Amino acid sequence: MQNAAFSACNLDYVYIPFAVAPEKLGEAVSGLHALGVRGYNVTIPHKTEIIRYLDGLDKSAEDAGAVNTVLVDNGRMIGYNTDGDGLVCSLAEDLNFVPTMGTIVIIGAGGAARGAVAALCRAEAKRVIIVNRTFDKACALKSDMNQRYPEVFIEAVKMEELNEKYLPYTSLVVNTTSIGMNGDRIEFLNLAMLSKSAKVYDMVYSPLITPLIHEASGMGLMVSNGLGMLASQGERAFTIWTGQTPPKGLMKQFLTGICCS
Ligand code: NAP
Repeated sequence: MQNAAFSACNLDYVYIPFAVAPEKLGEAVSGLHALGVRGYNVTIPHKTEIIRYLDGLDKSAEDAGAVNTVLVDNGRMIGYNTDGDGLVCSLAEDLNFVPTMGTIVIIGAGGAARGAVAALCRAEAKRVIIVNRTFDKACALKSDMNQRYPEVFIEAVKMEELNEKYLPYTSLVVNTTSIGMNGDRIEFLNLAMLSKSAKVYDMVYSPLITPLIHEASGMGLMVSNGLGMLASQGERAFTIWTGQTPPKGLMKQFLTGICCS
């Protein structure tokens, strides 16, 4: 989708994917620096670990404590987080949901969850509940966000507490974990406890229809996969690297084309 946008804007850039093992991250960053790249994205599992190799952070990344986009500017590597704002944009476009609307349950506490919670707080969410397999990570995320956004009511809850105590009053559930990428269900989540007006967002976009999306749509709930977020975070990264705005909707159109072909 980046290459399609570079081409549409007549820009002499190219976007190339590299698989980097966790223990090679530092070497990969040095290599990119030496090659003189303009910027890059980082994804699972590097979004927090990358920070120690960078020269500075934009507010979006500082808020989240996670980076998905890096700009190399005058030899300095600056980290940004475009995931969170990408999610907020996709929630509005794909689910007609704005963060002020009600209680939001975030499943997961990794890099993607960090970007999501920070952006939801910036967008004036009222109440955010974080639930994660490793409870300590949910608590750490809650505590980081509480310091930055004391006006938002943020709670970390244990998996076994979620269903009966919280789901009946939830407006939106966001899956930020990688569960679903390999066809697994989120075992601890009982969607039947949600009200009929609740909405479900799965950040996973491959497969397009995850077990969560399948189950929630089968129950008549409004759902979206993470394709809109992927396009939206990409549009923001494009602008950071090039200073230009990509043609509106082109990245999503491109993704929809490849995903459906
Ligand atoms: P990450 O930092 O490695 O975090 C992974 C999260 O998933 C952690 O909360 C982890 O829980 C949880 N998890 C993984 N396997 C699990 C399992 N079997 N059972 C329960 N919890 C499990 O990864 P990330 O960067 O946040 O990315 C997470 C997902 O979001 C990926 O699928 C990625 O593709 C997607 N994503 C999509 C977009 C988009 O544009 N649509 C953007 C960013 C990310 P523990 O803490 O207990 O390990």
